[in-house]
Amino acid sequence: MKAKDQRLAELKARIPEVTPVEAAALVERGAALVDVREPDEVAQGSPPGSHRIVRGFLELRIEDAVSDPERAVLVMCAGGVRSLFAAEGLRLLGYKDVRSVAGGFNRWKKDGLPVEVPRALNERERERYSRHLLMPEIGDKGQVRLLESRVLLIGAGGLGSPAAFYLAAAGVGKLGLVDMDAIERSNLQRQILHTDERTGTSKVQSAVRTLKALNPDIELVGHETRLEARNVEEIFRGYEVVVDGSDNFATRYLVNDACVKLGLPNVHGSIYRFEGQVSVFWPRHPARRGPCYRCLYPAPPPPELAPSCADAGVLGVLPGVIGTLEAIETIKLLLGLGDPLVGRLLHYDALRQRFSELTLAPDPACRYCAPGAAFPGYVDYEVFCSTRAG
Ligand SMILES: [Zn+2]
Repeated sequence: MKAKDQRLAELKARIPEVTPVEAAALVERGAALVDVREPDEVAQGSPPGSHRIVRGFLELRIEDAVSDPERAVLVMCAGGVRSLFAAEGLRLLGYKDVRSVAGGFNRWKKDGLPVEVPRALNERERERYSRHLLMPEIGDKGQVRLLESRVLLIGAGGLGSPAAFYLAAAGVGKLGLVDMDAIERSNLQRQILHTDERTGTSKVQSAVRTLKALNPDIELVGHETRLEARNVEEIFRGYEVVVDGSDNFATRYLVNDACVKLGLPNVHGSIYRFEGQVSVFWPRHPARRGPCYRCLYPAPPPPELAPSCADAGVLGVLPGVIGTLEAIETIKLLLGLGDPLVGRLLHYDALRQRFSELTLAPDPACRYCAPGAAFPGYVDYEVFCSTRAG
């Protein structure tokens, strides 16, 4: 007997095997199915919900997929041989209940069990996003998720510029931009999407041009309009996360109210002189109940108390910090990573170079987001400047 055959016989004696039909039933009951085939094989189809970890990285990455060594793990390859070796590797790592799927994916398919063809990254995408792919927290799965995600940016100004740059560079597949203004020369000290020669032209068109040059493979949708009660839901429809970089109260309240009504996370940022703040308003976060913007500020201040747009100066770099933090929160939400700023307000003081954090509780009497509250309707406030310059 050849050494390989002998080794295989030993493994078969040691590693329990299950048929694909049995494997599918075990997955229903909570077992993890790990597909260890090569990416080009997986690209042809793989069981839905399986963890796709190429054999060479199995021992390094299994913990991210299956953290509990007591959980049943079913290993699958194409024909049921490689999976025996892979199963042995997992047993050595301390996984107690590891089984190999006899006949592998070929038999899975022949038995008529469900198959999905995962969106695979092409060579160009692999190169572009290689530094994401190297991180197990993102990897192929996370990058595909980003490429399939849809984010709406309110404002292509000071906050929208860095947020849009980084979200486009990260490969967010569809980026919408809402802005109705034209570029003014006084914007260029902070609105880095735009250029001097484009002064007087549409911000949205300028932003689309800049972002297209940075990443031609993503979809950019311009909404050259003022956000109002009559159009807000139509514009928001189809997006998963809204990033607020608006520069006036009317828009900020409208964004909040629509996000509350539609259940969307609202990544909020604002800036004033040398200070800025970031939070995620998402009362319907699946795990943590945080406030909405109206829990904090039930109604806008009277216009005479808000500084005029021309008075509200800001350090040009400041929105770069705050808009970038908004982009990070957005990526975290899309990938389900880390601890989002839900129920927390992060404050940044550039002069003292200091971040501080405030815990925010939802207002149980909030007319907009209190559990069971009937939506009170949108309000088109008169547009006046907030305490900040977008
Ligand atoms: Zn609220």
